[in-house]
Amino acid sequence: SRAALFEGGDKVKVTFKDVAGLEEAKEEVEEIVEFLRNPSKFTVLGGKIPKGALLVGPPGTGKTLLAKAVAGEADVPFFSLSGSDFVEMFVGVGAARVRDLFKQAKAKAPCIIFIDEIDAIGRSRSRGNVPGGNDERENTLNSLLVEMDGFGTDSGVIILAATNRPDTLDSALLRPGRFDRQISIDKPDINGRTQIFNVHLKPITLNDDVEAKKLAAQTPGFAGAEIANVCNEAALIAARRDKKKVGMQDFTDAIDRVIGGLEKKNKIISPDE
Ligand code: ATP
Repeated sequence: SRAALFEGGDKVKVTFKDVAGLEEAKEEVEEIVEFLRNPSKFTVLGGKIPKGALLVGPPGTGKTLLAKAVAGEADVPFFSLSGSDFVEMFVGVGAARVRDLFKQAKAKAPCIIFIDEIDAIGRSRSRGNVPGGNDERENTLNSLLVEMDGFGTDSGVIILAATNRPDTLDSALLRPGRFDRQISIDKPDINGRTQIFNVHLKPITLNDDVEAKKLAAQTPGFAGAEIANVCNEAALIAARRDKKKVGMQDFTDAIDRVIGGLEKKNKIISPDE
C-alpha cells in the first residue's frame, strides 16, 4: 500500500534525555520544538518559521535520534524516509513517494519529516550525471523542492534532514526557505562518550568494576552507534560466558570485536587507506 512507502506518522517516545551529549545541537533544535508546540505564537508578529534544518555529521552520531527526540519533545508525529531508498527507483515512484509523504504530513501537522541520507537524493545536479542515468533521482529532488516551496511556514511541518556530505548537496536545497540552517553533530569527545555509555549501560546488569569513564577512555573515535553496539555485545558475551553480571573484561572484549568490525568495514569501503 501507499502507506508503506515511507515510515511513520506515529508519535515517538524518544526525548532529549535519550540523546547523550550534543548539548549545542539540542539547544539549537529546542527552538524547533517550541515552534511545533505553538506555531501561531511565532508567526503572529509576521515572522517566518524555518521550514527545514540540516543535521550535519558522521554516521552513527545520533542525527536520527535527535530528530526523533524533537518530535518526542514536541509530542508531534514523526515521518521519515531515507535517501538511499530512492536509488534505483522506477520512474515516477520517488517523486510520487515524496508527494504522498508531504500530503500525509500536512494532514497530521504539526509534525516532523526526517530525511536520512539526503545526499542520495540531493546531490548537486551538475555532478557527474550520466545522461539518462539519474533521471529518477533528479525527479525526486525536484518534487522535494516543489513540496518544500508549496507549504507556508505556518503549516507546522518542519523537515529535518541528515547528511555527512553537505558539500555535495545541490545548492537549490540550501536556499533561504529550504534547508537554510545547519546544525553540526560531531563525534563525541571523551565526556560525550562517557555520557553515551551512561545511557546505554542503564539497562544492563553490571559488575562493580564497570565504569563509563574508563570505557570512554578505551573508545577514542567511537560514535554513539558504536558505543550502543559495544554495550549490547558486552551483555551477549557475558551471557555466553554464563555470567550473572557484565564485567569490565566483557566490555574490553566487546570493544575489540567492534573495532574489528569497523576495520573490516573500512577495508571494504576504502581499500587504499
Ligand atoms: P546515520 O547517519 O548512520 O543514520 P545517525 O547519526 O542518524 O546515523 P543514529 O541512527 O541516531 O545515528 O544512531 C544510532 C544509534 O546509536 C542510536 O539509536 C543510539 O542507540 C545510539 N546513539 C548515537 N548517538 C547517540 C547519543 N548522542 N546518545 C545516545 N545514543 C546515541
